[in-house]
Amino acid sequence: MPSKPKNRTGEIYGKLTVLSLSDRRSSSGNAYWWCECECGNMREVASDSLSTKIRKKKHH
Ligand SMILES: [Zn+2]
Repeated sequence: MPSKPKNRTGEIYGKLTVLSLSDRRSSSGNAYWWCECECGNMREVASDSLSTKIRKKKHH
């Protein structure tokens, strides 16, 4: 049974601000979060990716 993800709402990782928990889960059970990019786009981002600072330039 997957553990409840840590609440990341409001946290900022690079250009991404975490808005809410997604219903999506990875095959390994990791949670996804809805994040808003500084350019205004919404993205679903895995918890794994949020555990480290996102510095990718090619996110569009
Ligand atoms: Zn963007």
